[in-house]
Amino acid sequence: GPGAARVQKVLELVCSTLLNMQDRLNELDRQAGDGDCGHTHARAARAIQEWVRARPPPAAPAQLLSALADLLLEKMGGSSGVLYGLFLTAAARPLLRSSDLPAWADAMDAGIEAMQRYGGAAPGDRTMVSAGVPGDVLGAVCSAEAAAEATKHMEAGAGRASYISSARLLQPDPGAVAAAAVLRAVLEGLR
Ligand code: ADP
Ligand code: MG
Ligand code: MG
Repeated sequence: GPGAARVQKVLELVCSTLLNMQDRLNELDRQAGDGDCGHTHARAARAIQEWVRARPPPAAPAQLLSALADLLLEKMGGSSGVLYGLFLTAAARPLLRSSDLPAWADAMDAGIEAMQRYGGAAPGDRTMVSAGVPGDVLGAVCSAEAAAEATKHMEAGAGRASYISSARLLQPDPGAVAAAAVLRAVLEGLR
């Protein structure tokens, strides 16, 4: 179905991105570690490409993330391989109940929490955990949607609606709903 095609497209994009970054990641890791961070990520990318090209990946998010966890634990190597394995395994769990936006936010938070628990790194410790904002971004979209919806209980203090009796303002503000929808669309387009 179209779900599977989109998963395939996103995975291909992730893999080509990582392959293109290989030299830069190795260089960064030469200055701060053992110089193989590009190699570990390229190994992961090639493993995912082979896997996706051999058979269509599961379109159900929980199954997809679990399968990726197994693949990366086996093929990626390095600290990154273990940490991504932990991240994906934990992130898969909230997606068993639903794959709506709040479930994705929970998934990202659970994944980052697992990496922190096992790897011992806090967000300020200069690791991949420090890039762990996806849950916050998803959360921001959810908050924006909830806040937009909550405008239906507000009295209008600006705009044309401020000339309308609040007894007639039973729906949320269209501009707020649109703004939240824009945020959501950007996010959906990215993932
Ligand atoms: P290795 O250090 O085993 O060579 P890589 O080079 O693949 O692994 O990955 C290095 C990256 O892994 C670091 O730049 C850092 O972002 C991340 N990392 C390493 N240790 C931890 C940790 N304990 N918690 C979170 N991230 C970590
Ligand atoms: Mg390294
Ligand atoms: Mg290494």
